[in-house]
Amino acid sequence: MSLKLYNTLTRKKEIVKPIKDKIVKLYTCGPTVWDYAHIGNFRAYVCVDILKRYLKYKGFKVKHVMNITDVDDKTIKGANKEGISLKEYTRRYEMAFFEDIGTLNIDRADIFPRATEHIKEMIAIIKRLLSNKTAYKSEDGIYFDISKFKDYGKLSHTKLEGLEAGKRVKQDSYEKEQAQDFALWKSYDKEDGNVVWKTEIGNGRPGWHIECSAMSMKYLGNHFDIHAGGVDLIFPHHENEIAQSEASSKKKFVNYWFHNEHLLVDGHKMSKSLGNFYTLRDLLNKGYNPKAIRYLLLSANYRVQLNFTEEAVKAADNSIQRLNDFMIKLKEIKNNTNKKQIENIIHKTKKQFEDAMDDDLNISIALAHVFEFVKEINTLMMESNVGKNNAKKIIEFMNEIDKVLGILEEKEEKLSLDLMKLIEEREKARKEKNYSKADKIRQQLKEKGIVLEDTKEGVRWKRVK
Ligand code: AMP
Ligand code: ZN
Repeated sequence: MSLKLYNTLTRKKEIVKPIKDKIVKLYTCGPTVWDYAHIGNFRAYVCVDILKRYLKYKGFKVKHVMNITDVDDKTIKGANKEGISLKEYTRRYEMAFFEDIGTLNIDRADIFPRATEHIKEMIAIIKRLLSNKTAYKSEDGIYFDISKFKDYGKLSHTKLEGLEAGKRVKQDSYEKEQAQDFALWKSYDKEDGNVVWKTEIGNGRPGWHIECSAMSMKYLGNHFDIHAGGVDLIFPHHENEIAQSEASSKKKFVNYWFHNEHLLVDGHKMSKSLGNFYTLRDLLNKGYNPKAIRYLLLSANYRVQLNFTEEAVKAADNSIQRLNDFMIKLKEIKNNTNKKQIENIIHKTKKQFEDAMDDDLNISIALAHVFEFVKEINTLMMESNVGKNNAKKIIEFMNEIDKVLGILEEKEEKLSLDLMKLIEEREKARKEKNYSKADKIRQQLKEKGIVLEDTKEGVRWKRVK
């Protein structure tokens, strides 16, 4: 079957057909690096991760660009408050973001362009918009004239009737009811401190929306396949991206618009402004397993809201433990009575998994089939009806679907550099017959949950809980 995705633009599920060959060009609105991202933000990145991994599973190649918004109203305010440069301020949160996506096993994009390094490209678009009169200069910057773009509102279904022509909005975020001419370029204001670009279109800085148009079109072309982000970005951000991009290139900007629903807390969107958020670090400090957090964020369909509770993280942890225990049991099978029946069960489950995922990434159904499969095989294992070769095939199948899910424990876990050094130091002490030092280090490692085993092939380690 072919993969169908819900397209916000057409309000329909559509078969994904890339513009060129089997290469899907995908753009995700990345983080605004003004603070640590919260796990609501990570729901957005996990949803795109599942999309991307499933596209690859279906045999597509994916070129993925995720921008880093390192200049906007919030980053400037943050840097000025601390009295440090914008770069110093934003790099701190950019680094934390990269660390966090690694922790959540989110596949890295091919390119992470920074807004501050693409000012030239933004100016080129603004100049084209000025010359074709879809943009105009005003006393505090350069604005896009929404009345000149006849399709304005097509993504968010915003009606322009009744709005006063020429009303302008300078800040980056605003409500649908306020659809107004928006800032492409903001003239220098003393609140910007030392954040200023001296350019041919004036001294100032870019608006938020133009950043994504410039970076997506630079790396993916004027017309590309999928643009992703949370539903809160549909208006004004994505509506404005379409307007600027299409008015400047005279081409259709994007074929499929992919929007994830929010992570909620007690019925409200998790957000910094409501103060109802958890960062990933908060949850790790409470001792939660990052894979359980990933599982929770991916386990609901991307188009439904998901309520966050700590109980839900605990339940997610139980679910992945069940899968990991299942894998361990399979690896321990010694029996040689292989049954054809097992291959049929794998085949059936693979089809159920794919059918569900093909239907707009219906992951809750896909996961239900995986857990039914685990239950069925577990029963057969208890009856000694799963042989060694059967187990090998089951493991292969589980690893294949885990390329999409990314939740199973890695086959070869790597230790941190510090722990590796300790193991080496103990080896050295042992060779030098300094057994008291060797034992001390062994104890030190044990306290960190690492147990050593001396074998003929050398020292082995394993993690204990
Ligand atoms: P920001 O850094 O605020 O631009 O947000 C980064 C991404 O997270 C965007 O795609 C937002 O739509 C998304 N996002 C923000 N809050 C939530 C939430 N509570 N649940 C899901 N996605 C969110
Ligand atoms: Zn964006």
